[in-house]
Amino acid sequence: MSDKCIFCKIIAGEIPGKFVYEDEEIVAFGDLNPQAPHHYLIVPRKHIRTTLDLTTADNVLIGHIHQVAGKLAHDLGFAEDGFRLVNNCNEGAGQSVWHIHFHLLGGRDFSWPPG
Ligand code: 5GP
Repeated sequence: MSDKCIFCKIIAGEIPGKFVYEDEEIVAFGDLNPQAPHHYLIVPRKHIRTTLDLTTADNVLIGHIHQVAGKLAHDLGFAEDGFRLVNNCNEGAGQSVWHIHFHLLGGRDFSWPPG
């Protein structure tokens, strides 16, 4: 845990979060500023700064996040219409919180390429 990290504080229950999923490794909660009718952040409990900081030891964790993303999309009813799973890495790609997370977005149409 990083003392100053906002997502570590949400995971620790020090800041409220609207959780839609949690297990021993990861949590998922609603984004404060949703960009789609469904917008959740899937976050490992372990504090990892960015995708560039992942190691081989995290491979199962990242696979688990993808599997839970699909399950959430299915269980919350927006899988069939399509959804996005997005990881922004570093400022140039829009990363603003330095604890790795995956945006799960659904419930509307998406265009390509992304902005
Ligand atoms: P990034 O820009 O790093 O890819 O995504 C960070 C996301 O975290 C943003 O979509 C932002 O709205 C969300 N966010 C920032 N602070 C909080 C917070 O305190 N609570 C929640 N639920 N989301 C937050």
